[in-house]
Amino acid sequence: MIRLYNTASHSKEEFAPQNPKNVTMYCCGPTVYNFAHIGNLRTYIFEDLLSRTLRLSYPLTHVMNVTDVGHLVSDADDGEDKMELGAAREGKSAWDIAKFYEAKFWQDYDALHCTRPTIVSRATEHIAPMIALVKTLEDKGYTYRTSDGIYYDTSKFPRYDALVGHARISGLQGGARVEMSDEKRNPTDFALWKFSPKDKKRQMEWDSPWGVGFPGWHIECSAMAMKYLGNTLDIHCGGIDHVTIHHTNEIAQSEAATGQKYVNYWVHGEFLILRSGKMSKSGGTFVTVDVLKEKGYEPLAYRYLCLGAHYRTQLEFSYESMDSATKSLKNLRALVGQVGQACARTPSETEKSRAWKEKFVAAMEDDLNAPKALALTWEAVRAGELSAAEKWDFLQTAESILSLDLLKEEQPAQTALPAEVQALVDARAAARKAKDWKKSDELRDAIAQAGYLVKDTPKGQEVEKK
Ligand code: AMP
Ligand code: ZN
Repeated sequence: MIRLYNTASHSKEEFAPQNPKNVTMYCCGPTVYNFAHIGNLRTYIFEDLLSRTLRLSYPLTHVMNVTDVGHLVSDADDGEDKMELGAAREGKSAWDIAKFYEAKFWQDYDALHCTRPTIVSRATEHIAPMIALVKTLEDKGYTYRTSDGIYYDTSKFPRYDALVGHARISGLQGGARVEMSDEKRNPTDFALWKFSPKDKKRQMEWDSPWGVGFPGWHIECSAMAMKYLGNTLDIHCGGIDHVTIHHTNEIAQSEAATGQKYVNYWVHGEFLILRSGKMSKSGGTFVTVDVLKEKGYEPLAYRYLCLGAHYRTQLEFSYESMDSATKSLKNLRALVGQVGQACARTPSETEKSRAWKEKFVAAMEDDLNAPKALALTWEAVRAGELSAAEKWDFLQTAESILSLDLLKEEQPAQTALPAEVQALVDARAAARKAKDWKKSDELRDAIAQAGYLVKDTPKGQEVEKK
């Protein structure tokens, strides 16, 4: 039995799919105007854990969108389009920007062992269903026109604050967060279709019954989710920041159009934060998978770090915690390697191994308790009551969810060292070749100062993080 915390009911609920032969899940995807930061990727790792856990029991159709158009810098439906802004910044076309960052996104996504969605839907390839949805809303009387677009009148949808609760929406209305343009009827109203500016040609724009322009951000998720998964989805995921505006607006658009419930289970992941506050793309500096790699970390060490915190708790990122995740992952792999050797990598399923596997799966099925599942994995590989072959059997199940390259015979080659450390290591190799032992020792100290230990082995120097 899978239990999930449903944001809509503020409680853990037993998961009951509409059709157990095809569970449907929609996850909000990346906005591809810049690199994904590791905060975004924490959300995809949590969604991957959900997808892997669901797949143990059900066939799953997992849809993810790629926002490659029309995402405005502010939530208030004004400001510049992020894609066009990226294009101006980099001197490329908006289309090239989207293509480049989407490819980069999948590279990072794969490096973290996130399972690819069944269907990836790009906003720019689904303008027609978005227009059709706006048209339905217009026909039903939910829209109005201003000088810059077609807006959704949230006062016409009485359940507008259902997902967040009335208090937070009222707070939003009273606060200064959303600037109200003169023409908007209610502060929470949002754009469904924006007109292209009269004085400027946009790179991405389309004809519509209302004039040339581009879709509002929220409409893409409603249109694409319902196109591929039907009017009612089993599960809709995203980061916690999407609850108040994006998902609230998705519900308003979808349910007003269809008259049916849009989503049965809303599942949201908490944020990765920096000591200095929130990690955000528009806020300037952010950490990416490439930055981690440049610093000598393996991407899967970041996955390990994320697995150690429950998805509904905030996780504070630091390089100290990356160091300790790297160490733990290495130690776990070493223990698993010994288990594999002891049983010639041949699993044996017994009542005992089954009981351990059940405990592992039960932890994941209890609202994705990955920290518990990870702790059980450590316990299992050390458990005196299990034979190596039984442990190996347990590990097949654990690895199918954790996906940390635990079972690989060949452990991944050492990841690249930071350039400055590599330069010191190369210089030391040259010094040793020239039998300049004094210099070699000095360089060893310099490498140690940079946080690395160097060992001399018959195969040459081996370098590891201290
Ligand atoms: P975006 O590309 O900005 O649309 O965000 C992609 C996903 O990352 C969304 O599900 C966001 O809710 C999520 N997200 C954004 N910032 C963070 C963060 N700091 N930690 C975790 N998830 C985040
Ligand atoms: Zn979305």
